[in-house]
Formats: sequence, C-alpha cells, structure tokens
Amino acid sequence: MLIDSHCHLDKVDTAPFGGSVASVLDAAAEQGVGGFLNVCIDLEHFADVHDIALADERVWCSVGVHPTHTEGEEPTVERLCALGSQDRVIAIGETGLDYYRIEGEGADWQRERFRTHIRAAIELDKPLIIHTRSARDDTLRILREEGAHRCRGIMHCFAEDWETASRAMDLGFVISFSGIITFKNAEELRDVARRVPEDMMLVETDSPWLAPVPYRGKPNHPALVRHVAEKLAEVRGVEPEVIAERTTRNFRELFQLG
Ligand SMILES: [Zn+2]
Ligand SMILES: [Zn+2]
Repeated sequence: MLIDSHCHLDKVDTAPFGGSVASVLDAAAEQGVGGFLNVCIDLEHFADVHDIALADERVWCSVGVHPTHTEGEEPTVERLCALGSQDRVIAIGETGLDYYRIEGEGADWQRERFRTHIRAAIELDKPLIIHTRSARDDTLRILREEGAHRCRGIMHCFAEDWETASRAMDLGFVISFSGIITFKNAEELRDVARRVPEDMMLVETDSPWLAPVPYRGKPNHPALVRHVAEKLAEVRGVEPEVIAERTTRNFRELFQLG
C-alpha cells in the first residue's frame, strides 16, 4: 500500500471521479493508495481540510499557513497549538520559506511565520511539513536555530541538491519525492533519490499541482502517486512494492501511527 504524504484534497477537482472527495480516494485506492495527508495552507480553509480528515479514516490532516499566503489570519503559536491538538491533525504546516514567489531575500514576516510554526510543532511534539523554494540556506538555518530536530518533519516536494538533503536529514527530516522526479530535466534530483537512505524517504503528489509524467501539466490527484513511486523504484533499482512498503512504514513511524 502507498501513502500520499502531501495532497490538498479540498482543492482537487472531484468532477472527473463522481463529484466527491470519497470518490477521488476510492480511485486512488484502486491504484493501491490507501492513506493521505491532507495539507492545510491557510487558516481560512482549515475547517474544510479538517472535515475531510474527520469524514474518512484513510485521511489525516495538518494545520498551517503557507509561506506565500499574504492575506488572511496570521497564525500564532497558541492558535496553531489549539487547532493542532484536534482529532486527526498529525502535522504542522505547510510552512517554510519561499523566496521564489516572494521576491528577493524574502520578507521578515515570512521568517517570523516560519519560526511560529516550528515553535508550535515542538510544543505539540508533532512533525513539521516544510516547503522551501530558492531559500535553502535560510530554511536550514532557522530549523537549526529553533531546534527543529526535536519535532522532526518532512522536506516536502523536495527539489534541492544532495547537500541540502543530507543537512535536512541530519536534523531528522525525511525527504518526500513528488512528480518532479519524473520530469525530464530532473537528473540531479534523481541522483538524490538514488542516494537517500531507505528509512528517510516518502512519496507525495502535492495534488492538484505537479502531476507526474505522463500527466505533466494536467490536474493531479492522489492515485498518481503510484507514478512517483514507480520512478523512485526505477532509479533505485528495486521493485515498486519495496518502495510502497518502505515509504508507508516511514510515514507511520514519523507520525507514530503504530
Ligand atoms: Zn509546498
Ligand atoms: Zn502543498
């Protein structure tokens, strides 16, 4: 069985599947995908994200505000801890730094918001979901400064180099591979995928974005995590079942799901 470690089920287009999130999940189950981490990107939609997890035992969720979200409620440690203590909420994020969409050196508010999430995750003892783009040094520096090895977490949609991967793993963060590893120009990332220890890897879709080849550019959905796992198996020279079994075990161990 595979687990999609990062998807946005409230944003996936359900129409092609029969119009409900449950039908999207059933389609994924037919492809061997049996677990889903539904990731929150702003507090305005937390209730929607959470309701999906409460309605289906295959789904867990997170609480957090994305580093590029510029309007709406700014999270505090107290607020994240209150929401993060609720049933089925197993992670804090997605959070991190994005200097690609927030130009230049980023903004102080982005770094402060990131620190707020790390402090909440440590207080709750729940793993972080990290989004980092064009900001790897600051991301790792702030994780270190805040002592994020205490809560650990996931480098989601990983697209950085081996040095960044190993520095993140030193802090106890696992590397989650998305459809990007199937892209033609992602040879450096496939090299990372070859080298990551088997107990430090996960797979995800980040649906509805980042559909893997051969669906690149089309809407993504959790069933397609199979293509990510198959590419990971190919570059590591193992059977897809080995990747499915191992990444599912890694997910369960990180979140202490027994
Ligand atoms: Zn992200
Ligand atoms: Zn995401």
